[in-house]
Amino acid sequence: MRKSQANLFSENGHATLTTALQELYARYGEPTYDGPDDLLGVLVQTILSQQTTRQNCQRAFGQLLDKFAGDWRRCQIAPRADLEEAIACAGLAKQKSTRIQALLARLEEERGDYSLEFLREMTPDDARDYLTSFKGVGPKTAAFTLMYAAGMALFPMDTHIFRICERLGWLDAGQSSKQAHRRMEEMIPAGQHYPAHMVLVRHGREVCHARSPACEDCPLGDICLYYQDLISK
Ligand code: SF4
Repeated sequence: MRKSQANLFSENGHATLTTALQELYARYGEPTYDGPDDLLGVLVQTILSQQTTRQNCQRAFGQLLDKFAGDWRRCQIAPRADLEEAIACAGLAKQKSTRIQALLARLEEERGDYSLEFLREMTPDDARDYLTSFKGVGPKTAAFTLMYAAGMALFPMDTHIFRICERLGWLDAGQSSKQAHRRMEEMIPAGQHYPAHMVLVRHGREVCHARSPACEDCPLGDICLYYQDLISK
């Protein structure tokens, strides 16, 4: 790792983060938060979204709701093959159906209810710790669920966001996913977690590609260590 990259975040990471967000909002518009949503439904959708496209995830969730008439108890006690069939288009159906049924069973056992609405009363850290105690719910899934459905100041990092943060020098090599999530969410200004997530995902999809990023068309070139390295050679 370059020395500048290792130290940059602590030296002026706040400044470059603020600049980057301003540039990206100027380019794409600042996304607005749509407001609260059903926490359990969003968590199940986020589990379904793992390693598949958004379209397949939405289709699988719609089929799951149709199959069990939106009744989580019916979903929990159904033969697993029925759930697998409903969500097959999202892939990893065996693994995902097992995790969804285990999640529902634990909620019913612990809370006597198929709901995660009680998480709204918790701090973001406690709510995240609770969700990550379920098998198959990692830092990204937990943070996305709580940010999207409850407006909590958490910052889910997908592959696009990791890539951009690394290229801009905001992450240290060897940081775990959990450490990276905590570091970034502490640095993002209050009220900016949702728009920052949305705009960085979009930038990763449209400009900062994994292979051959379109740096000439990127407003972040002046503050991007990857690009500055590239043009200095
Ligand atoms: S300058 Fe290039 S590498 Fe840096 S953020 Fe922009 S597209 Fe990505």
